[in-house]
This record gives sequence, structure tokens and C-alpha cells, in this order.
Amino acid sequence: MKQPSLPRRIVVAGGGTAGWMTAAALARTLGPVAQVTLVESEQIGTIGVGESTIPPLVAYNRILGIDEADFMRATQATFKLGINFEHWRVPGESYFHSFGGTGKDHWSAGFQHFWMHGRAQGHDAPYGDYCLELQAAQASRFSHLPDDRMNYAYQLDSGLYAKFLRAMAEGDGATRIEGRIVAVDLDGTSGDIAALRLDGDRRIEGDLFIDCTGFRALLIEGALHAGYDDWTHWLPCDGAVAVQTASVRPPVPYTRAIAHDAGWQWRIPLQHRQGNGIVYCSAFMTPDAALQMLLDSVEGETLVQPNPIRFRTGARRRQWHRNCVAVGLSGGFMEPLESTSIHLIQRAVLRILRMLPAGAISPRDIAEFNDQQMADMEQIRDFLILHYKATDRRDTPFWRHCASMSVPDSLTHRIELFRETGRIFRKNEELFAENSWVQVMMGQGVTPQSYHPVAAKLRPQELEHLLATLREQVSRTVAALPDHGAYIARYCGAQ
Ligand code: FAD
Repeated sequence: MKQPSLPRRIVVAGGGTAGWMTAAALARTLGPVAQVTLVESEQIGTIGVGESTIPPLVAYNRILGIDEADFMRATQATFKLGINFEHWRVPGESYFHSFGGTGKDHWSAGFQHFWMHGRAQGHDAPYGDYCLELQAAQASRFSHLPDDRMNYAYQLDSGLYAKFLRAMAEGDGATRIEGRIVAVDLDGTSGDIAALRLDGDRRIEGDLFIDCTGFRALLIEGALHAGYDDWTHWLPCDGAVAVQTASVRPPVPYTRAIAHDAGWQWRIPLQHRQGNGIVYCSAFMTPDAALQMLLDSVEGETLVQPNPIRFRTGARRRQWHRNCVAVGLSGGFMEPLESTSIHLIQRAVLRILRMLPAGAISPRDIAEFNDQQMADMEQIRDFLILHYKATDRRDTPFWRHCASMSVPDSLTHRIELFRETGRIFRKNEELFAENSWVQVMMGQGVTPQSYHPVAAKLRPQELEHLLATLREQVSRTVAALPDHGAYIARYCGAQ
């Protein structure tokens, strides 16, 4: 058996959320097995957005041994139970995509089938009445529950998160180098990256390079030309403006995604302030109009200058190429509609750790990594497109464009299968589970024409008992939960 060759020099280029999430995880997991060096430039800075997350981040922080209350204090985080989608199917209507499950699934059929059978029998309570996280979010209540019965994520200040992770990574032996990368040296024989050249005539050599340089993608694209798959024909928004405002009310445990004439807006409440932003499609709205719409709609005093951002939705064709792995925005970008970017960073970092070469880099590891990472991105892509495609909005040119655009066959299949049968199948460790797809499909107006026959095996009294019991469990649990803001104050105050 081959012995791993130690130590391995791992160089992380870039110190945004991606860079520090990578460096912290590598330094903590590998200890002396690897020398982790991170290069960043304060002068260039970070993108400065990325505040809403999804539940796997809770597990990520636990893997790294992070104390949750410390983390929440340091990042001014609030809890998040889902996203409220407003005006997406039609103006004036909203629906909630919650974390966790709804009702109780049978092994052969999800709860939606039993709920639909109930509807057919005259039980008219909304689907969301059977979801603990959804009801807790709407009541603005939160508490940790035994056995992780409450599924949650965080709304956080990403700049503070990077700072928190930096302290951790440096404490675990990672080295930070301040400097601007001015060139990338390739090995003349292998074509791999040999070193980063920094201003001041410095040279940082390494065995494995992680490109966390954001949209610039200096290593993976600039030096290695890994290629980019453009997905703007499916997700046409290409601009954003972000601004932070003072809080005007206690934080709610959810993010708001509010559709507008040519895109949507986010509102993310943190402990100390609110994050706001607008995402728009420049073919249908000018950057000035987007900025004005944002400024007209924010509630509190603005705390910073608005931050305009242009992007091209898509994925780096090879996320791992030669001895370089793209993590974060350098690997591609999809708009933050379902808060998935930080999650993709986390997936990439954990995958790097699982596939860390024990000697020479194996082309099979690279192929496997790229396959898995791309599958994640394509599944998320389809889920995002669903929000635009399955809409009854025809009130503006942008929404008419979205409703008529062609979508990937994989998504068409899912929509039509759900419409015909109410069925959703989660494939290959897919991020979004059945309940997520069901909530968004129904919220966007895709109504199943039939349901699984197993639901009809319940006698009327059994069905009534099942639905009443599930609803009652949810409302009893929610009634006993504390107020979200008060819970955070207590939880984070307890040092
Ligand atoms: P950056 O933050 O851009 O960091 C790049 C790093 O590389 C910086 O440290 C920079 O200094 C360094 N660098 C670049 N060039 C050089 C050089 N020449 N020399 C030295 N250093 C260099 N994600 C979510 O999960 N939830 C959200 O709600 C969310 N909202 C978003 C909203 C918008 C509008 C956008 C655009 C993104 C959003 N994201 C969100 C994505 C999230 O912001 C990013 O995934 C995350 O911040 C990671 O960025 P990054 O570290 O890859 O890049």
C-alpha cells in the first residue's frame, strides 16, 4: 500500500467566505498532515454579500467543532426556518418554502398524497398547517428542539463569518499572507500550477491550489482555462445591488424573496442590521432603475453605499482541473434565490477532504469530484429555474419571457411527473428533498391531477384522525416556542 507523501502544501488563493471556509476546514481536519497557506488582498476585498444559508451549514459548523452560540455572537446571526416567496405565482400571493418535512410520509408516498386525499374529502387546511418550521417561522418563534426536530439554518454577516473562520484557521496552524497575486506560474513539464507570484517579488509554491479568488477565477480560468458553461438562457438575471440597513423591527426567522417586474429582492434580518438586495435581468431593467427600486423599498437607514454586482450564471466546466480546485464564485454562480452558494462551498470543501490525494493526484479522483460537484449544481439550477418557469405571471415582458423559455429536459420531466401524479423523487443525495420540491411546485401553481392510491386506503375516520393529530402536534409545539428575537438574546447572551 502506498504511504501518503507528507507534508502536503495546500495554497488557498483568496480570503472571502470560500477561502476561509476552505482554510479553516483543511487546517482543522488535517492538522500537521498539510501546510495550509492562504493568500488574500485586503485592497481587492471580498464581494461582501452572502448572508442567507441552508441547514447543512449547521452540520458543517459541528464537524469543525464550532460552538454555535460563539458563532452566532461573532457573526450577528439569526435563525432561519425557510424563505417566504412573495408575488412569484401571481402578484399579491405568497408561499413559504420551509426547511424540514411536512406532515408524515408513508414509505410509498409523501405526505402530499394524503393531504390531497384529505382535500378531496373536504379537509381544507392548507398544506403548510402540517409543517412545524413553517408555522414557527410565520409566528416568529424559535427554539432548539430535542433530536434536532427543528430544522434550521442561519442568516449571518458573511464578512464576520470569514473573520471568525480566519481566527480559527490561524489558531489551527494555517498561515495567512497579505498580497496581490500578480501571476500564476505553471510547471513547464506537467502544466500544473507550480506557484503564485505575489507583488513584492514573492513566490508561493504548492502541491494543491484552491482557487477562491471569486468571480476573477485567476487560477482555474485565468491560468488553466477550465471553461465555463453559461446558463443565462435558463436563469436570465445578471445583475444585483446590495445594501445594508438598520433594523426597524425584531428579526424574523426567515428570508424574504419578493418578486418584482424583472427579477426579485431579498430581505435578510440579522441581529444588528438587515441585508437587502435586488436581483434583476438587465435585458428588462436598467441598473439605475434597479438601484432606485431597491432604495425606494428599503425600510431602515442605509448603513453603507449600495454595492452593484454583475454576474453570469453558470458553472466552471471543470471544477477540479490539474492541481487546482475552484471553490466559491470561481467555480460558478447561481443567483441566491434558494441561498445555495455557501452550501456549494461547503460541499466542495468536504469533497476535497474526502478525495484528498495520498500522493500523486489521480485523474479518477478529479473525474469523480467534477461529476459530483456538477450534479449538485445542475440539480440546484433546475430547482431555481422552476421558480421562474412555473409561474402564472404574464404582467411584464420579463415574466412572459420566463414563462415561455425552454428549460432543461430534467426539469420538464419533474414538473410533468408532479403535475400528473404528485410524485417527486430525490435523486443521488440531491440537496433539495421531496418536501422542498412539493412546496415550490404547489406555491408556483403546479397542481397535481392525481395522487397515490395508497392514500385512499385510509377510512374517513382514520384520515380525519391523522390530519387532525398532525395539525394539532404542530400548533401545540409552536405555541410553546419562545419568540425568536428573545431566544437569540438569551442563547447568545449566555456565555
Ligand atoms: P469573494 O468574496 O469575491 O472573495 C475573493 C477573494 O479573492 C478575496 O479575498 C479577494 O481579495 C481575493 N482575490 C481576488 N483577486 C486577488 C488577487 N489578485 N490577489 C490576491 N487576492 C485576490 N450565497 C449564499 O449562500 N447566500 C446568499 O444569500 C447569497 N447572496 C448573494 C448575493 C449576491 C448578489 C451574490 C453575487 C452572491 C451571493 N451569495 C450568496 C454568494 C456568496 O456571496 C459567495 O458564494 C461567497 O461570498 C463566496 O465568495 P468567494 O469567497 O468565492 O469570493
